[in-house]
Amino acid sequence: MSRLQKIALTSIAIGLIVLALKSVAAWLTGSVALMSDALESIVNVATAVLAFGAITYSARPADHNHPYGHHKAEYFSAMIEALLIGAAAVAILFQVWAAFSEPRIVFASTEGLALNALAGVINAVWCFVLLRQGRELRSPALIADGRHLLTDVFSSIGVLGGVIIARATGLWWLDPLLALFVAGNIIWTGWSVLRASTGGLMDEAPDAKDIAAIQRAISSAGQGAIQAHDLRARHAGNTTFIEFHLIVPGEMTVTDSHAICDRIELALTREFGNVETAIHVEPEVHAKSEAIDLSPPDQS
Ligand code: ZN
Ligand code: ZN
Repeated sequence: MSRLQKIALTSIAIGLIVLALKSVAAWLTGSVALMSDALESIVNVATAVLAFGAITYSARPADHNHPYGHHKAEYFSAMIEALLIGAAAVAILFQVWAAFSEPRIVFASTEGLALNALAGVINAVWCFVLLRQGRELRSPALIADGRHLLTDVFSSIGVLGGVIIARATGLWWLDPLLALFVAGNIIWTGWSVLRASTGGLMDEAPDAKDIAAIQRAISSAGQGAIQAHDLRARHAGNTTFIEFHLIVPGEMTVTDSHAICDRIELALTREFGNVETAIHVEPEVHAKSEAIDLSPPDQS
């Protein structure tokens, strides 16, 4: 089992623990807000299972049906996460509306609040691990799972803070007002997770930092060639696809130009890990003005 799969499995286990804690908290307090918080945890367990499935499927090697690999499965799981995040925000907005239209005094026992807070802390720690590991391992499913959990941490803080402040001050409208801010934050998260997953599915260009790293790798390993142009790249999960044209002197042998290509492929692999490169070799008559210059300084 890969490290990514182990993390995804741990996510399911932690989701179950948090669900148990929040259920007991809701049962102890009889609070509707804490009950809905516990119900949301069921969604967390479901999405953790979904992320595990997507990670397992996308790790499959390329086959006859999917010659470019299965990496994009993770973007579908991220997209479903985004929709569920949006649904959570809508549910909170309904509660806010209900609270404003029919003010009620919030009652919650201290033990129940403490248990809910403990569940929130576990979620916060785990969401930090998920986001860090997800970025390091370039896993869109894990990052989306982490961001989903982050919205839960925010809503837990909102629910707890609202209940505690309303109980201390007697200002009933502080609770729904805080929930309104929480909902706004969750909508923003849902939107950015949705944008990231559609970007992946649409083969969006890598960011400027990655493009610069690709250009640096090509120039550092491209001695013997003249220039590189028509560079295109895209990320699909943890794999980076890179293609470009390489201009070499027309009289260079196939063996020599192949050696340059292999050096560049190695440099790109060192930079990005899983890389699939396609290089189209051309003689100098095909040189373009917009290109990565590879000729030695004294010649140009
Ligand atoms: Zn060309
Ligand atoms: Zn080769």
